[in-house]
Amino acid sequence: MTIDIDAADNPANGDATEKVGAFVRRTAPQVLYELGSEDLLRLQDINFSKRVFRISFAFLKRADLIDRKENVRYWRDIHSIEGVGYRITSQWVARSLPLYQAWLEAQGIVPDDAPETSAPSLRRAARTGVRWRAMPVGVAQNALVRHLLSTLGEDTFGKDDWRKACAHFGDACAYCGATGKLVIDHAVPMNRTALGEHRLGNLVPSCNACNSKKGDLDHRTFLEDAPDRVTMIEAWMTACDYRPRSDDDTLRSFLALAHEEIGALANRWRDILANLPKPD
Ligand SMILES: [Zn+2]
Repeated sequence: MTIDIDAADNPANGDATEKVGAFVRRTAPQVLYELGSEDLLRLQDINFSKRVFRISFAFLKRADLIDRKENVRYWRDIHSIEGVGYRITSQWVARSLPLYQAWLEAQGIVPDDAPETSAPSLRRAARTGVRWRAMPVGVAQNALVRHLLSTLGEDTFGKDDWRKACAHFGDACAYCGATGKLVIDHAVPMNRTALGEHRLGNLVPSCNACNSKKGDLDHRTFLEDAPDRVTMIEAWMTACDYRPRSDDDTLRSFLALAHEEIGALANRWRDILANLPKPD
């Protein structure tokens, strides 16, 4: 896509305003997944958003904190990061475009010139030292958290349990009621924020479409517009004596330690490997 900076400089130019909105909406989601938690916090700060992008709303806001009045100021798309759903503000003005682009560049991210209809595709600028598509250590950190959550408690989950779970939901997707191929989904996601477990009650049948749309979202957030489905899922949890541990701060803080430890381990080994003698 091409960006007409001259047009973007003129706030009265409606067409340019539309362009900057579409551009942010296309590029921001991918950026969010590449940011660290500090940057995520900054984007939720309204003063940071005013100063850096000259916009009047926080760039990012937790979906559950958006009230009715603000609802129209944020795009409906929910981006799930570590089990929390966020929405991006739609309130962009033309003069924000170069500011947003400069910010992207400072993050070491250069959007491709892909047409607007294609999926977001970004590449890291080589000169920032961040390797394009390198495997982030966060993958290992999150894998450990999932492993620990999946091995909590004594109970096992077998094929019979899976059949029981499917039967409870009428052999249909717990989220939309679709029949056909069903996969196992964790209603409360297995991550260090939501603390979902891999056990009877939290495992529900899902169609592939819902499974990929739901991502890391909590079943309640995902089913915001379908309270009956939430009730059905929670009845299943109760029937299985599954009590989500979302309020268990002790568990959460221990998982945070485990998560950090993997990060420290990765740093240590990166240093060791960087100091290996060079082969001749
Ligand atoms: Zn479904």
